[in-house]
Amino acid sequence: TSPAILADLLSTGLGVQGMLWATSPAATEVETRMLDWTAGLLGLPERFLSSSAGGGVIEDSASSATLCALLAARERATAGQGNSQGLSACGQGLVAYSSTQTHSSIEKGLRIAGLGADQLRKIAVDHRFAMRPDALADAVTSDLAAGLRPFFVTATTGTTATGAFDPIDTIAEVCSKHGLWLHVDAAMFGTAATCPEHRWIQRGVERADSYCFNPHKWMLTSFDCSCFWVADRAALVSALTILPDYLRNQATASGKVIDYRDWQVPLGRRFRALKLWFVLRWYGVEGIQRLVRHHVALAQELAGWIEADERFEITAPHPLNLVCFRHREGNDASRAVMDQVNAGGQAYLTHCELNGRLTLRLSVGQARTTADHVSAVWRLIGEAAEKL
Ligand code: PLP
Repeated sequence: TSPAILADLLSTGLGVQGMLWATSPAATEVETRMLDWTAGLLGLPERFLSSSAGGGVIEDSASSATLCALLAARERATAGQGNSQGLSACGQGLVAYSSTQTHSSIEKGLRIAGLGADQLRKIAVDHRFAMRPDALADAVTSDLAAGLRPFFVTATTGTTATGAFDPIDTIAEVCSKHGLWLHVDAAMFGTAATCPEHRWIQRGVERADSYCFNPHKWMLTSFDCSCFWVADRAALVSALTILPDYLRNQATASGKVIDYRDWQVPLGRRFRALKLWFVLRWYGVEGIQRLVRHHVALAQELAGWIEADERFEITAPHPLNLVCFRHREGNDASRAVMDQVNAGGQAYLTHCELNGRLTLRLSVGQARTTADHVSAVWRLIGEAAEKL
């Protein structure tokens, strides 16, 4: 949106370097404030606020947030030895858990953190594509019995393929029983929690160790802006801090300031918090809520048209702004519809595979999307189906 674009221009023009509090107190303080505001906007727990032991930071992407969560969790699980001794000495046997529907960034993060694919368990999902906590509990129990060291679970608040919501509260019980770090990835759908009626999607988040969502997906902010909160910033900072001579300064030494370089992989950082500030000030809470509700209503209207059309069927629950559907005649027909719509250049449908069946996906989330746009895409879909 325009406010976010203006903020990006301003950030580039000012050329602020926000790596340390000392290099830009304003960029640091505004970021801390924006993350506190946004936590309030989403109804996130107080343990994520900067006034607690936790706090928030803006990462470039959810993938980076997941990586940082993994590194902090590894730090906690190895009592800090993962950095001093190397993983071969102390990280063997660590096991992470996600669902079969979790975004690929978890696997990538594990690779970067030095863990292999054999250290990730992809837990089965239920008929709604949400992680099954009983299967998670069984996997953890059997890994413990095998002498392994479960340490990390990702629960997704709106999976990429279908927007399934893993039951954070029940998953948190398994995590707290075994001392596992619980990370919640709400990349796109987290924005829905700006509306109290949609907060059910994050039930149990008060027991999570970390949480991320991307304002650059649905909250009117230009790429890049991924908000990441931790309940215990000490584990994160301990995983990522190194203090060479050239970065030493009085403010850091005082222990009273945040140096966001210790909360992310790169050292340098832009003044991205300006984007959140401008978006929040321009739209206000009610403006953001209005757009979210509008998008959800448009997606629900589309779902109604699909349900009423005997050529198509809905393939997954669609409580928010993503609708998954397929042609009843099967994969070839669904692909032909998708290819034809996409070849037209007016709309772009994405797809995924669910239980071996090709599924088409349509998500409404842009500030200027209107009912006319959605009905135009539906018309294109219908025309493509006519040509089969
Ligand atoms: N997590 C989920 C659930 C996603 O849907 C996506 C992107 O589609 C990601 C993570 C990755 O997001 P990013 O591009 O910000 O790394």
